[in-house]
Amino acid sequence: MIPLFGRGYDVLVNVTNICDARCVMCNIWKNQEGPTSWLRPEMMRSVGPLTTVSFAGGEPFLHKEIVEIVRAVHGRNPRAKVVFSSNGFRTEPIVEKAGRILAFHKNVQVTISLDGVGEVHDRIRGIPGAWNKVNRTFDRLGEIGLKQRNFAFTITRDNHTALPAVYAHARSKGAGLSLAVAQSSKFLNVEIPPLEFEAVRPHLEPIILAHLKSRNPMDWMRAFFQFGVLRYLATRQRPIGCDALEHQFMIDQAGEVLCCHPLLLRAGNLGEADLPKILSCPAANELKKDLRACHACWEVCTARSAIRANLFRVGLWAAGNKILAHLGLWSGKKGSRLFPLTRERPPLNSQRPTPRESP
Ligand code: SF4
Ligand code: SF4
Repeated sequence: MIPLFGRGYDVLVNVTNICDARCVMCNIWKNQEGPTSWLRPEMMRSVGPLTTVSFAGGEPFLHKEIVEIVRAVHGRNPRAKVVFSSNGFRTEPIVEKAGRILAFHKNVQVTISLDGVGEVHDRIRGIPGAWNKVNRTFDRLGEIGLKQRNFAFTITRDNHTALPAVYAHARSKGAGLSLAVAQSSKFLNVEIPPLEFEAVRPHLEPIILAHLKSRNPMDWMRAFFQFGVLRYLATRQRPIGCDALEHQFMIDQAGEVLCCHPLLLRAGNLGEADLPKILSCPAANELKKDLRACHACWEVCTARSAIRANLFRVGLWAAGNKILAHLGLWSGKKGSRLFPLTRERPPLNSQRPTPRESP
C-alpha cells in the first residue's frame, strides 16, 4: 500500500476523465469525450523522480495508450511503484493491458473498487453485474501472475454498514482493502456533505483493531491510515499536514499539473514546461505555502508521502496502539498525543485555500 522508503514524488495521474461506471458518489461518468479527454504518453517523459505513480481517471484501462504511458514513466523511474485504481468492469482488456505492463515492470499493483457485497456494490457503482465483473477481474489478474491485487472501498452514506463484509471478502481473497471517504472534489465534479464519525466508527473500528493485531508491518501502516480516516471524520483535520506540490501532486488528462483532485489548483502544464520547472515556479511555491494549512481531505494518494516523512512517529504510534489493541484497551474515540490536532477545528467553508491562477 505505502512504499516506506523512497525520496521521489507520489503522483496521481488521471489519464482520462471518461468512465464506464455510474457511481453515486462521482459525476465523472457524465463527461462527454473531447479532444483533451485522454492523456498523451509523451507528456509523462519529464515526470520524475517518482516513488509512487497512481493511475486513475475516470477508468484508466479505457485509455488506448495506457501501456505506452506506463512505459514513458518507467523509462525515467524504473523503480517507482505503479498503482492502478480501476472499476474492474472490463475484465479481458484490463488483464491484457496489465499483462503487457508486467512484461517490462514488475512493481505493479491493481486496486479494484469494491463498495459492497453483491447487489450493494452494483447499486453504488450503478452497473448491474458489477460485483461479478469485479471478482472475475481480480481472479484473472491472479492467473496472469499479478501479485499485488487489492480492493478499495469508498465509504459513503449508502454503504458504510457494508464495510465489515467487504473487508471479510477481501481477506478471503488474500487481498488488502484500501479505504477512502467519499468527498467533494472538483475533478469528480461532486459536492458531498461530510459523513458523521459516529455512523462510521462502529464499522471501521474492528478493521483497525484487526490490522493492529496483525503480524504484518504493512497492516500497521494501514491501521494508522485508517485511524487517520476516523480522526478526520471526528475533527475534519488530517493527522499529518499536507505536502501537496512539495512531495505529491496530480496530473490530469490534459497534462495539467495540479495540487490534488479535490481542489484542482494549477501549477502549470506538461505541454508547456517540464516538471521540475513547473514545480519550482513562483506560482507553485506560493501555492505550497497555502496548501500546508489545508485540511480538506485525508486520502491515501495524498497521505503516502506524509506518512513516509513521519515514519518514526507513525512507527511509535503503531507500537503503542498495537499493545493497547492486544490488551483490549484500544478505542477509536481516542486521539493521539503523537498526532495532536494542529489547530482548532475550522468552519468547513474555510478549510480550503482560495484558488488562484498560475501565470
Ligand atoms: S468513482 Fe471512479 S469508477 Fe466511479 S464514475 Fe467516478 S471515476 Fe468512474
Ligand atoms: S489536504 Fe487539501 S491540498 Fe492537501 S490533498 Fe487534500 S484537498 Fe488537496
